[in-house]
Amino acid sequence: ATPTAVTVGIGRGAELGILIKKGEALEVAGRISCVLFDKTGTLTEGKPEVTDIVGDVLGYAAALEARSRHPIAVAVTERVMREGLEIPGVEEFRAIPGKGLEGKINSQHVIAGNRVLMDEFGVEIPADAGKLESEGKTVVMVAVDGEFKGVIAVSDRINPGATAAVGELERMGIRTAMITGDNRRTAEKVAREVGISTVIAEVLPEDKASRVSDLRSRGVGVAFVGDGINDAPALSEADLGIALGGGTDVAKEAGEVVLVGDDPLDTAAALQLAGKVISRIK
Ligand code: ADP
Ligand code: MG
Repeated sequence: ATPTAVTVGIGRGAELGILIKKGEALEVAGRISCVLFDKTGTLTEGKPEVTDIVGDVLGYAAALEARSRHPIAVAVTERVMREGLEIPGVEEFRAIPGKGLEGKINSQHVIAGNRVLMDEFGVEIPADAGKLESEGKTVVMVAVDGEFKGVIAVSDRINPGATAAVGELERMGIRTAMITGDNRRTAEKVAREVGISTVIAEVLPEDKASRVSDLRSRGVGVAFVGDGINDAPALSEADLGIALGGGTDVAKEAGEVVLVGDDPLDTAAALQLAGKVISRIK
C-alpha cells in the first residue's frame, strides 16, 4: 500500500502545479545532489527574437529556416514576414541536428548554423563573429558556396524564475549546472545571468543523455530539467526527469515530474516537497 505521506505529497504537489506521476519519484527526489538545466526553453523562454543582421543574409537564412521548426527558425521566419521579404525556393534541404541547416538556393550551396557547421564545410569565420556570442546571443552564420556571408543573431529572454531557482537550489546545498547545444560563449553569458557556474556547452542532441549518465556513474544523484524533444533521452536517463508543462509532449512523457506553470523555481519546490514526504515516511 502507498504510504499516506506519499499520497499527501502527490496531492500537495498537484496543488502547487507540480505533477508527480509516481510515488517513487518523491523518494528519488530526496537523493538528488545536482540539478542539470537545459538552456533554451528552460532557463530561457525559448522564444528568441532576431536582434542583429550582419550582411545580406536574411533571404538565404529565411529560405532554409522556413523548413525548420527550431526556435531559431521561428525567430528568423517571423522577422522575414514582418519585412515582407520574398523567400527563394530550396532544393536538397537537410537539417543537421545541433548544427544547422543546408540546401541549394538558385543552384548555390547554402549553409546556416553554428561554428561547428562552418568548420565542417571548411568555411573561414571572421574574428569579430564572437562579439555577439559574448552578449549571450545565438549566432546563425551563413555561408554561400563555401564563403562566409554574414550572421543573424537571435536573443532569448531569461525565464522569470530561473535565477531564483538556481539561488534556492544552491541554498539547499544542491549543485546546479546548465547543458546546451549552443556555443560556449553564449551559454556562459546566460549562465552568469542566472548564477550557474557549471556549463556544459556545444553538446549534440544525442549526447545530452550520455552526459547525464557520466554524472550518475560518478555517484551524483541527477535531476534533469528540460522541455524539448532533444531532452527526452536525458529526462529518462536522469534519476529524476522534470519536464516543463509548456514543453513538448515527448519531454512530458519522459519526465517523472511535470511543472505545470513552466516555472523553474518549482524544481526547488518539488525537491523540498520530496524532503518533507521522506522525513515523514522514515
Ligand atoms: P539547444 O540545446 O539550444 O536546444 P540544439 O541542439 O537545438 O540546442 O541546437 C544547437 C545549436 O545548433 C544551436 O544553438 C544553433 O547554433 C544550431 N542550430 C540548430 N538548429 C538550427 C537552425 N534551425 N538554424 C540555425 N542554427 C541551428
Ligand atoms: Mg530546450
